[in-house]
Amino acid sequence: MILEQMDLFDNMRDFRLHKKYLDGLFKTKQELIEQLQTEGRERIYHVLSFGGGTQSSHLLEQHFQGEIHYDYIIFSDTGAEPQFIHEQVDWWRKRQVNMGNHTPFLITRHNSMERGLEEMLMRYILTDYQRFQMPVYCNSVNQDGEVKAGGMLPRQCTVDFKIVPVKQRVRQMVLKEHGLGPKQQIPKNVGIIIDIGFSYDEIRRINTYQSPQYNYVKLAYPLVEANKTTEDSILFLEQHGYPLRRSRCYLCPFNCSAERAIGMDWEEIIEWEPFSFVKALWFDAKLREVQSTGTKVMRSIPYLHYSRKPLSEVFPQAKYLTNVYKKELSQWIAEWHRYITDKWGVVSPSKASV
Ligand code: SF4
Repeated sequence: MILEQMDLFDNMRDFRLHKKYLDGLFKTKQELIEQLQTEGRERIYHVLSFGGGTQSSHLLEQHFQGEIHYDYIIFSDTGAEPQFIHEQVDWWRKRQVNMGNHTPFLITRHNSMERGLEEMLMRYILTDYQRFQMPVYCNSVNQDGEVKAGGMLPRQCTVDFKIVPVKQRVRQMVLKEHGLGPKQQIPKNVGIIIDIGFSYDEIRRINTYQSPQYNYVKLAYPLVEANKTTEDSILFLEQHGYPLRRSRCYLCPFNCSAERAIGMDWEEIIEWEPFSFVKALWFDAKLREVQSTGTKVMRSIPYLHYSRKPLSEVFPQAKYLTNVYKKELSQWIAEWHRYITDKWGVVSPSKASV
């Protein structure tokens, strides 16, 4: 009975009937091409924002098979992806070579915080930097001192550390191709369409087809247009024997417990990258410590785990792993102190002991 209902749901899957499409929050790639052409932008560059995980790998393989055209494939390194995601990116780069595909495959980063999310968090913890760009779970304290579960901060890191760096990189490449410098304007006949690997089941993540930074850059969602779900992409990769890891940062609050999501969980980080988990434990605790100083504009009490409990309480192996990696952790913290001090200024003395 449940299966029949699921089949019925699958058959009813149609992005054209979805409110987001009906409200004009996104358009099909063909509609975007026509819009750019109407604006006189006849030279359209097609770009894949490659995340190294299942959905954008599905699109990449379609490109290798000649089903989707791309002028550039760009991976934005958030500085916090697990090593197994970097290995997966390497695997796809090798496959490209084996397939005889020559599309430029570039790696890019945030333009001022090139060490990515770890740098943003360390800057937040160690200096007076106020911008907090991660979707942490929050608690708030009311006037009577009662702690209440709050919401979740926006997923700004995806925009700042993944999507914007891709736009900036492709812009640079196109300018260069036209013999122009990085500060010059894009020729009036150029448009850029960047494919984002959101699936139909992630349609809620779509907010716009229009880049807020550049009017000639549009965002397309080809898997949504094909009514494909995350599971469809996993099945596609599985059938071909391709790598199946889901991409994300090792400390991403969207990591769930094993039973809550497909292949994207804290347990995977603990098993494959215990030191990254120890770093996540440190960030989780340190963020609440910094919040308690009252020096930050953000007032909420942040948690990386959806239960709004410290990671160290959720996972019994935390204490043991922290002991095992004690030396590496203190070296890592010391190295960050040096880096942040050199780059962003003096570390606040009150925080120098962290
Ligand atoms: S994977 Fe998570 S932490 Fe990393 S950029 Fe995306 S939302 Fe942010």
